[in-house]
Amino acid sequence: MIDEFPRVRFAPSPTGYLHVGGLRTALYNYLFAKHNNGKFILRIEDTDRNRFVEGAVENLISSLKWCGLEYDEGPDIGGSFGPYMQSMRLELYSKHAQELIENGHAYYCFCTPERLDALREEQQRQKLPQAKYDKHCLHLSKEEINENLESGIAKVIRLNVEPNHKIVFSDIIRGRVEFDSNNVDDQVLIKSDGYPTYHLANVVDDHLMKITHVVRGEEWLSSTPKHVLLYDFFNWEKPEFAHLPLLLNPDRTKLSKRQGDVAVEDYRAKGFLKEGLINFVALLGWNAGDDKEFYYMNELIEKFTLERVNKAGAVFDLDKLNWLNAEHLRKKSDEEILPMLKEEIIRASYDMSKFSDDYLLKIISTMKERVSFVREYLTKSPYFFEAPTEYEQSSIQKNWKEETPEQISKLYDAFTKLNNPTKEDYEIALAKTAEELNIGKGKLIHPLRLSVSGISTGPGVFDLLVTLGKEETLKRIKTAIGKIKI
Ligand code: GLU
Repeated sequence: MIDEFPRVRFAPSPTGYLHVGGLRTALYNYLFAKHNNGKFILRIEDTDRNRFVEGAVENLISSLKWCGLEYDEGPDIGGSFGPYMQSMRLELYSKHAQELIENGHAYYCFCTPERLDALREEQQRQKLPQAKYDKHCLHLSKEEINENLESGIAKVIRLNVEPNHKIVFSDIIRGRVEFDSNNVDDQVLIKSDGYPTYHLANVVDDHLMKITHVVRGEEWLSSTPKHVLLYDFFNWEKPEFAHLPLLLNPDRTKLSKRQGDVAVEDYRAKGFLKEGLINFVALLGWNAGDDKEFYYMNELIEKFTLERVNKAGAVFDLDKLNWLNAEHLRKKSDEEILPMLKEEIIRASYDMSKFSDDYLLKIISTMKERVSFVREYLTKSPYFFEAPTEYEQSSIQKNWKEETPEQISKLYDAFTKLNNPTKEDYEIALAKTAEELNIGKGKLIHPLRLSVSGISTGPGVFDLLVTLGKEETLKRIKTAIGKIKI
């Protein structure tokens, strides 16, 4: 049970795009907040100047918004605990670092990069499990420190980790987690450029922004002991922690760009629906305890709890994403699909003025069960947008015989007599013509389909005719008779 209304945050570093792993973190934070009537906050962790990417924040925000993850406080909308960009909060971090120095929990370090390199090499030579700072500057006298500070030589501020004790915290997903302080480095808190590192800024902000639950990826678990020390050193109450499982490629290696798309914008550009992507990402490490897989956002909000998030890595299965996407598309009403189809038509450079809403709605209902992406209305049934100019060779060979032109002409004549024909009218006219010609219906159906669509697969042929309309149907039959040669 959550007693207070929780406050959670998504705290990305703006590295250029929203990674699907980031989307999963953002989504779980969002769902948790909404489920518990809490607040979801966006905070931009942009204190690493070397990794600054122009336009990255805008890109991130637009991906989050596209997915429907509206936040309650954030850099572009403000809130009571702003600013929400760490680069605009630098003074706060130095003030807190000073406080730690005064209490002996942090210290200035003036070591040169050369000394640090030599130290690292020596530790590697000794095969120590990990490189660690040797606390050299912790032992400088007050005078030495003041002299160094006055001379203006480069300095950083480090966390003073006491050796030989256990750092313990509890994680909602992992239970009790324990680290040996001997394995925790005297982390740099303020860098020589005056900017804070992730660790200091993250803890200071989580405290000042009154974050109650820190929900983030497993890759941050090893940073948590440093954060726990910081909370203790500041005498602050710690938030609850929940570290989400890693995302894996199907071969169980860590999800990487090399094995497919990792940016939300790539999936968007490929035509995935936000509903499909959100549904899929929600299941990467969480289930409601039953077999249900199809979810809308409101159902996810209702069902989501952190307690039901797994520890084990979650495999990113593209087939499942495709399937969920198709399911979500099929559940949309024809009217909902209409504007999406129009967008695709424009993107494909067809002349939109040729297609009435009525016509497009007919296409949608004819093809709905056959498409998994809106784009497939165009790729699977191009003949609705353009009369065929070529005809499938294998179908000609199989279905277009010497006598076909004459037989199809008879069908043409029968169709001309129809007035505003329905599917059944076409069907009856074809059956009658076949009977008069004393041939099986198939002898007309296959050539008819080929004539109007150019290919041999698709929806029921009479549905096709009704969608195209009588005039277009007749035109296409005539063209085919003239064009198809055997
Ligand atoms: N800035 C970190 C990131 O890029 C935030 C990690 C955290 O949530 O503490 O993911």
